[in-house]
Amino acid sequence: MKFNMKIKDFAAADTNVAAGLYHFVVTMSDNTQCRLIFTKNPDWKLIGVNRLLTVPCPICRRDYYCNCMSKYAEAFEREVLDKELISSVL
Ligand SMILES: [Zn+2]
Repeated sequence: MKFNMKIKDFAAADTNVAAGLYHFVVTMSDNTQCRLIFTKNPDWKLIGVNRLLTVPCPICRRDYYCNCMSKYAEAFEREVLDKELISSVL
């Protein structure tokens, strides 16, 4: 299945400036929510994607943990950086 959803909402969650770790929660156009973990050293880099279990996975339809979203880490990173979403919420 092709994954072509867009980010609808982007919010800061936990930040640990000393460790350079920043967590964000994204809501996609189909209401899938994921926690994105970024590092800043000095460029932003996405190091983790965890789907929140608020709605079933859009790829495999499981409503418990799965790993589908990590396949799209690059797409998430590109969209977040292209749209400068991080600076809009920090
Ligand atoms: Zn899945």
